[in-house]
Amino acid sequence: MTDRNETLFARAKAIIPGGVNSPVRAFGSVGGVPRFIKKAEGAYVWDENDTRYIDYVGSWGPAIVGHAHPEVLEAVRKAALGGLSFGAPTEGEIAIAEEIAKIIPSVEQVRLVSSGTEATMTAIRLARGYTGRDKIIKFEGCYHGHSDSLLVKAGSGLLTFGNPSSAGVPADFTKHTLVLEYNSVTQLEEAFAQSGNDIACVILEPFVGNMNLVRPSESFVKALRTLTEQHGTVLIYDEVMTGFRVALGGAQSLHGIKPDLTTMGKVIGGGMPLAAFGGKREIMACISPLGDVYQAGTLSGNPLAVAAGLKTLEIIQRDGFYENLTARTRQLVQGLTAAAKENGVQFTADSIGGMFGLYFADHAPQNYNDMARSNTDTFKYFFHGMLDRNTAFGPSAYEAGFVSAAHTPELIDETIAIAHDVFQEMAK
Ligand SMILES: *Cc1c(COP(=O)(O)O)cnc(C)c1O
Repeated sequence: MTDRNETLFARAKAIIPGGVNSPVRAFGSVGGVPRFIKKAEGAYVWDENDTRYIDYVGSWGPAIVGHAHPEVLEAVRKAALGGLSFGAPTEGEIAIAEEIAKIIPSVEQVRLVSSGTEATMTAIRLARGYTGRDKIIKFEGCYHGHSDSLLVKAGSGLLTFGNPSSAGVPADFTKHTLVLEYNSVTQLEEAFAQSGNDIACVILEPFVGNMNLVRPSESFVKALRTLTEQHGTVLIYDEVMTGFRVALGGAQSLHGIKPDLTTMGKVIGGGMPLAAFGGKREIMACISPLGDVYQAGTLSGNPLAVAAGLKTLEIIQRDGFYENLTARTRQLVQGLTAAAKENGVQFTADSIGGMFGLYFADHAPQNYNDMARSNTDTFKYFFHGMLDRNTAFGPSAYEAGFVSAAHTPELIDETIAIAHDVFQEMAK
């Protein structure tokens, strides 16, 4: 049989750089041929060979109610019949903004955009406009989309400003971005002692999902809020991944923290291009047309995306949704941990709500350097072992995994049994 994935990958590479429209999809860090997906339903995706996989990628987070949920599809179909885009305000936009503000109390006003990158890029511009300051703090290993001032890696010395982590980003754009180690209260305190009153904002992933899954310590969470408050610095929770995922109210509801601004994406679009930023009314008032911080978008608040998002937000607020999602995700990480232990494979796993991390290490990582010490070769073996057995995880050791409401207890048990075989093979 010809492998359509291979054929399509070759065809794609001739016309699309690397054959993909987002780099991780190319399987660069795990090797092999990416699966070209033909369709998805519930907890499954099918590739172009008509092979079915249990899916733990969930489109990198949005598919929280399961792929192609009939109610979401119906909402999108209805919206589509009324026209695809108007470039004018709609009632649906108000409804979803009200819904977001109801779910996340720190969000008093909301602006809709089309991608997480746009949301974080604008939140930073807004924080700079509001404070009249240029400097920002981010943490190594946190991903906030691909805008210029956020594609930064740590400078050579501690507390020196960052260097571009991508070609094409002028050093001038990143020289205002200070990159600190995640979970380091000491570095945070030093940074604020040194230049606290010049720092416009601190942006972080409140649970990191872009260097695998990393939890913040309680003291780190507290220090962030205290220091930013003391210095009039805007605290931005980038909840593009964690929002409506780790809990209905996002990471901030679990931390008991009210950030000044929150960015959202992934789940709120239910699989359509929709993202948002919001927060304190006083800060949001600085955005145009009210204020002088500019932001705009031809497709912002797109009616189809809003329809998919509204229906998704409705479904996730039904009784027992998060209890069930959390229990299923926990069942998965506990089962995988037990299976690895039985086979003598060094392995640790963690989960928060419907998001999980798998580490080939003896502990859950605390920061980027710690994560980098985990065994990525072992991950590759595990990844391909699972994929060969029709179970798909994200194709990189640095990605978190996602469970949906369509993952039944039986399906999780099936996954654990498959992993048991893979671990057994790895132990040999
Ligand atoms: C995915 C992600 C982004 C970027 O969102 P896009 O929609 O891919 O632009 C930003 N921040 C975090 C935390 C993310 O996980």
